[in-house]
Amino acid sequence: MNKILIVDDDKTTCRIILRVLSKKVGIDADVCYSFSDANTILQTNASQYCLAISDYNLPDAPNGEVVDLIISKKIPVIVLTASYDTDIRDKMLSKEIVDYIVKRSTKDLDYLHSIVQRAFKNRDIKVLVVDDSSVQRDTMARMLTQQLYKVLTAKSGKEAISIINNNPDIKLMITDYYMPDVDGFELVNTIRHTFKKDSMAIIVASGYGGTDSIPKFLKAGANDYIQKPFSREEFICRVNMNIETIEMIQTLKDFANKDPLTGIYNRRYFFETGKVVHATAKRNNVKLVAFMFDIDKFKQINDTYGHEGGDTVLKHFANLLLSLFKRQTDIVARLGGEEFCVLTSSDNAENLSRFAEHVRHTIENSPVSYGNNEIRYTSSIGIAYGQTEKLEELIKISDEKLYEAKNTGRNKVCMTLI
Ligand code: GH3
Ligand code: MG
Ligand code: MG
Repeated sequence: MNKILIVDDDKTTCRIILRVLSKKVGIDADVCYSFSDANTILQTNASQYCLAISDYNLPDAPNGEVVDLIISKKIPVIVLTASYDTDIRDKMLSKEIVDYIVKRSTKDLDYLHSIVQRAFKNRDIKVLVVDDSSVQRDTMARMLTQQLYKVLTAKSGKEAISIINNNPDIKLMITDYYMPDVDGFELVNTIRHTFKKDSMAIIVASGYGGTDSIPKFLKAGANDYIQKPFSREEFICRVNMNIETIEMIQTLKDFANKDPLTGIYNRRYFFETGKVVHATAKRNNVKLVAFMFDIDKFKQINDTYGHEGGDTVLKHFANLLLSLFKRQTDIVARLGGEEFCVLTSSDNAENLSRFAEHVRHTIENSPVSYGNNEIRYTSSIGIAYGQTEKLEELIKISDEKLYEAKNTGRNKVCMTLI
């Protein structure tokens, strides 16, 4: 289910597409040069393709028959066409395709990888459609499904709120204006209390786009407004544009909050978010735990395997910590060099001490493969458990414990109850 099917009678085009896909997208593809080839392959092997890229006209299928064939196998398809007259465009758009590219020259194919990448990313993106009309709801849901989005639907504002509460990772909501119970306007206002513009985009799709209702929605926090009835092409363009904006904001946030080598949070994020967690814990009388890690004799790893070998260990260690500290509220960060810190919580000291030993033992027994080598490494661990006036105090105590672990033999856990 993870291959692409390319159908085109022009061998040069196929070669270029294959090159673009392997270089820029890194995905495997099969090629067919005719309708009959495609038909044979799809009769038996349709299920291995998650996407197709197909010429509209083929010598043995001059009227877009191959596009219908691919769609009948439920494979999303990007269509290539050499000519672009309104007749062909209308015919193409009447079919349920992902997108089309007019290939006047091989340069036009450069654009292909961005469409393919978009479609692939969409498979992990949740979009919610809210409309009380089942026809409108189904039409929008179908258009989004063709773009490979994960689609959820709600027939009222009330249902939408409950779906969003259960799926806080929804990236885009498209909502109607007039609906019984909670209408689109109230829905936008309610959602914006919790989900800001940078985490979820909202498009209002309404047939009543009077001069006053558009600014009213935009001021309430909608990102965009689309007037019904709209064309499929406009709808998809607006959806993709809004998703791309959310992704761009996420990329900027990652630049600021994440460590580029390991992809986990950095020191800045750790203290910024840690302070909020600490304040909440203090208010609720909950004890926090700081785990401070420093990889043992890391300099030797660099000296033996080179800086790249060392980097591989750092990445491996970060992932290992993520797999060990899985609670939603855990903050796992690289504070710098080979020093990592985790802010978490625990019910009691006995469980914590058992868990800490499990963590130490797991690190010791999880070698990294690097080239032909297996690199084994250990970490010293300092733990502070309890309530402190400030987060910095908790971190300082865990740091002191870490150095105690270093000075008394390494690859061990030292812990203090505050
Ligand atoms: P100890 O057990 O006492 O912690 O010894 P150590 O060798 O781990 O500690 P030391 O502080 O002497 O050396 C840490 C080394 O980590 C030195 C530095 O060059 C290396 N280092 C820091 N950041 C990176 C990085 O991003 N990648 C790699 N490969 N090495 C790094
Ligand atoms: Mg070290
Ligand atoms: Mg060090």
